[in-house]
Amino acid sequence: MVPSRQLTPVRRRVVAAVLGLGVVAVVVLLVGVYAVPVLRPPGPRPAFQLPVACGEKWQVGTYPGHDDFDIDLFPDKGQAWGRPVLAAAAGTVVEAGISGTLGGRTPQNPDGPRGTSGGYWVKIDHGGKWETLYLHMLEPPSVRRGQRVEQGDQIGKVGSTGKSGAPHLHHEQLRAGEKVETHFAGAPSGITTDDREYSVTLTSRNCAGAASRATAGKRNAGEKSGPVG
Ligand SMILES: [Zn+2]
Repeated sequence: MVPSRQLTPVRRRVVAAVLGLGVVAVVVLLVGVYAVPVLRPPGPRPAFQLPVACGEKWQVGTYPGHDDFDIDLFPDKGQAWGRPVLAAAAGTVVEAGISGTLGGRTPQNPDGPRGTSGGYWVKIDHGGKWETLYLHMLEPPSVRRGQRVEQGDQIGKVGSTGKSGAPHLHHEQLRAGEKVETHFAGAPSGITTDDREYSVTLTSRNCAGAASRATAGKRNAGEKSGPVG
C-alpha cells in the first residue's frame, strides 16, 4: 500500500476536469480542421479559359451517354494528336497520372485497343472548391502532383488514352465536387446535358501562359527591331 500516491476526492475531480477540457479542446480542433472547410461555401468561379493554345479554334461538344456538363474538344482544323493541353486557370495539380487503363491508341495506331476511363489525366485545384479535369492525354502529364501552375501553362498533350474513340480532350469543371456548366472567357458553353449531340466552335483566349508569353515576347522584340513606319 502506498497511501501518499492515492488521490484525494478533490484531486480526482481536478484531474477529471483537466482531462475533460482536453477532450473538448481536441473535438473543437477537429471540428475546426475538418468541418469548417467542408461547410464553407465555394468561392467565385475562376476566370477559366479554353484549355488549348491561344488563338486556336476548337469544336466543343457532347453526345448522348457522355454525362451532363462533360465536354469533348476536337480541333476545328488539323490533327488533334499532340496539341498542347493548357491549364484553364491557375491552381495546384492534385492528380497527374493514369486513370483506368491506357489502351493502345497512338498516332501510329489510332484504331488500336481502347483503354478504360480517363487514361493519362490531370486534375487541378483552383481554390475556392473549384477543380478542373483533363483526360485522354497522349503521354504522361508534363506536371506532377503538388505542382503550382499558372493559367495557360502546358500540362500535357492531346491524345486518345483510356476510353477514347479518337484523339480529343475531355474536360470538366467542378464546383464543390459537382460537375457544373463549363465557362470560358466568362461565357457559359451552353453544354448542360448529354441528351443530344451538340457542339459549338470556340476560339481559345488562353493567352497568358508561358508559351504565349514567349511568343508575345518574340513578337514584341521583332516589332521593336523591325523597320519603323
Ligand atoms: Zn468526353
